[in-house]
Parts: sequence; C-alpha cells; structure tokens
Amino acid sequence: MTTIASRLETVKARIIDAANKAGRDPATIQLLAASKTNPPENLREAWEAGQTVFGENYLQEGLMKVRALADLPIEWHFIGPIQSNKTKPIAENFAWVHGIDREKIATRLSSARPESLPPLQVCVQVNVSGEITKSGVDPDKVLELASFVRDLPRLQLRGLMAVPELTAVTALQREQFQMLREIFEQLQQQGFDIDTLSMGMSEDLENAIAEGATIVRIGTAIFGQRRYAIPEELGSRQ
Ligand SMILES: *Cc1c(COP(=O)(O)O)cnc(C)c1O
Repeated sequence: MTTIASRLETVKARIIDAANKAGRDPATIQLLAASKTNPPENLREAWEAGQTVFGENYLQEGLMKVRALADLPIEWHFIGPIQSNKTKPIAENFAWVHGIDREKIATRLSSARPESLPPLQVCVQVNVSGEITKSGVDPDKVLELASFVRDLPRLQLRGLMAVPELTAVTALQREQFQMLREIFEQLQQQGFDIDTLSMGMSEDLENAIAEGATIVRIGTAIFGQRRYAIPEELGSRQ
C-alpha cells in the first residue's frame, strides 16, 4: 500500500472511532482531502485509494489540478479565502465553496455560476475564535448573511464552516466547534434547510465529530507535512 493510501485508512479509522464514541453513524461524516501544496500525482494516488472529494485553497493552484485531473470525476471544493475578482473561475470549476463571508462574494458567485451546472453548494464561514486575522463572519451576523445567501438563485446554502483557533487546549477547541453547532441549530430552528457543518482538521477531527461535524477537512494526516510554507499559513491556519 502507498503511504497516502495507508494514511487514508488511518484517517477513516479515526473518523469511525470518533463517530462511534459520539453515538453517530460514521456514514454521516464526509472526508474532504485538503490537498493544497500537493502535486496532482498525490491527489491521483488518493483517488486510487478511494478518495473522491478534494478541497483546494488557492485559485491558480486549484485550477492547475482541476485540469491535470480532468479525467477523474472528482468533486472539487474551494476552501480558501475568496477575492472578489476570482469569483468567476471558482463558480465555473468547483462544486462547493466553504468560505462565504460577505454578500458581495455570494452575489458574484451566484451571477457567475453557469446555467449548465447545478447550483453552487455553499457554506457561510463563521469566525468562531474572534481572532481579527481570521476570515469569517461574526457569530451575530450569520443569520443576516445566511438569509441573503439563501435567496440567491444560483447558490444552495448547505450550512456553516469554521477554522477554529489553533490551540493545544482541547476544551477551548471544543467550545468553538460547539459554538458553530449552536448557530447551525438556531438557523435550522428558524427554518433554514441546511445539513452541513464543515469543521475539523487533522489535529482536531475527533472534537469536531463529537460536536456534530458532517464534513471534516483533512490535509496533513492524509498527505504528510506540507513541503512549503504558504504565506497565509504564517499568520493563521488558513
Ligand atoms: C489546510 C486546511 C485544512 C487541512 O489542515 P490539516 O491540518 O493539514 O489537516 C483544512 N481546512 C482549511 C480551510 C485548510 O486551509
């Protein structure tokens, strides 16, 4: 077995274990491979080991891989920060966008989504840690943005996403996941038809699953340490 294939098995076992501990059905948790900095060959290797959903953070890098792997029916998610002048290629090449954090981006993605494709599946990103460097809308603004997104014709609001503060303190981490879940449940109570909580990374997937994650975004635990530092990672986890 290749290293990527064996790491994938380990990650899947962790997900099943965490789901069982939380009394959840493991089938309700989707594994997204966060593949930034990895060359297309690594993604192909993961595909051959059964991985079908991949998330990219940077447009140019992501598009390069979409093209290089066009022979595979991969479900591509855009999980990075979005600049408003990059919305068109994102709307044309990805099935999902996790980081909606303002109306302008949502409007532009909706206008640019081709009629030939199903609506773009989106999550509103919430800043659960209150760090000023983090993207994401403040918790008290989620309802407003979610309502706006729900009314756009070519977007389908699926739920919420967060990148909690990197902390060694498990309880703190879990509080942030819990906050996202509570906001999610409040939206559902207000009649929002949403089913997705995108939270949990290599280090903290167990806590995220305990708090209800339905998509975990896993990079390092599948592909190994990333080989070069990318600017955004120096200041935050994005
Ligand atoms: C890189 C990244 C991940 C994966 O992080 P790992 O710690 O390598 O698992 C998840 N989500 C986002 C938004 C990322 O940028």
